[in-house]
Amino acid sequence: MTAPSYLAVALCALAFVLALAFRRHRAAQLLAASTLAVAALSWPADGGVVAERARDAAILFLPWCWLLALLVPEPPLRSRRMLAYVIVVAVAAWLTTMTPAHVWDGLLDLLPLGGALRPARAALVLNLAAVAAALVHWLRSRRPLDAAIVLALLFAAGGWLQLAGLDLRSWLVAGAATLGVGVVYASWRLAFLDALTGLPNRRALDETLARLSGDYALAMVDVDHFKQFNDKHGHDAGDRVLAAVARSLAQTRAAQAFRFGGEEFCLLFRKPAVAHAACEEARVAIESLRVTLPRKPAAKPAKAGKASAKTPGRAATVQVTASIGVAPRGAARRAVDDVLKAADQCLYKAKDKGRNQVVALN
Ligand code: GH3
Ligand code: MG
Ligand code: MG
Repeated sequence: MTAPSYLAVALCALAFVLALAFRRHRAAQLLAASTLAVAALSWPADGGVVAERARDAAILFLPWCWLLALLVPEPPLRSRRMLAYVIVVAVAAWLTTMTPAHVWDGLLDLLPLGGALRPARAALVLNLAAVAAALVHWLRSRRPLDAAIVLALLFAAGGWLQLAGLDLRSWLVAGAATLGVGVVYASWRLAFLDALTGLPNRRALDETLARLSGDYALAMVDVDHFKQFNDKHGHDAGDRVLAAVARSLAQTRAAQAFRFGGEEFCLLFRKPAVAHAACEEARVAIESLRVTLPRKPAAKPAKAGKASAKTPGRAATVQVTASIGVAPRGAARRAVDDVLKAADQCLYKAKDKGRNQVVALN
């Protein structure tokens, strides 16, 4: 193999290892099949049977392996479904390398879609079916990794047509690289974004604060009486409200919003002068939020002798308030921890003074 060939296989294998390490099993399944196909297509021309069969093998097996990975629910690592997939891919690799010539020719007659189309076109049709299946996953989940899978499969589709004068292998490598980036990005989101609200999480805040210098102000925001809210409306309704509060806080003027934990948020202002006024606007914005909860079935008054029937109830609209404490970095508070503590003390004062207000330290 030449150096670029090694590089192509190594790139695909790296994307596969990343997907496996970050437990993105569907991406790993797609990448395992792609890596083997790229390895076969990279075999040196004098490398015997594999080099001869590489493109046929890709046409025969690759789109089917992708379709299988997309049509079966994403499996855990140690599961029968994963074992079955590994066996399918291993059998494909074994057939490519070990099958005697006359059996291989017979296999080629079984090309996808029964040879009704030219082989590469048939592979393209199956590839586009895989794109459609991936698109359905993405429309359902809206996860960035599912979008990356769609993109990677579209790249691969370019390979069957040899678009832009590039061969199948180059397009497969482009697809694998896209999927690798998708896996890393999905893992970055898992590490640094809060799943419920989509805001940067406590870890992201800690990293941001560790790198802070110059002037800034921090605000601690805490939803008022949220335990009571949960007790009255349920935890799901509480989650909805937290997501709405987070969306509102993300709009705060001149601030970066983080979910600190629970029903607490943190706002970082790089211009301390605007912090107090912006927090007051944020408080009013939260107070003005009206969150509609899904309709709960209401019980009809039971007639004598009959069980009560469920009918659609009225959708409830709920409202919350929040208290905010703000503190700027100052001569008396140089360290981030001190600024955070001062903001927290202001928050306690806001709670003591009756909640739904901003207390700022100058
Ligand atoms: P205060 O006005 O003094 O802040 O009262 P509080 O009830 O808001 O404060 P407390 O700390 O007693 O309760 C916080 C509640 O927030 C308790 C917990 O159930 C709720 N909570 C924390 N995280 C979540 C979450 O992710 N979803 C939901 N629905 N509730 C949460
Ligand atoms: Mg709290
Ligand atoms: Mg609270």
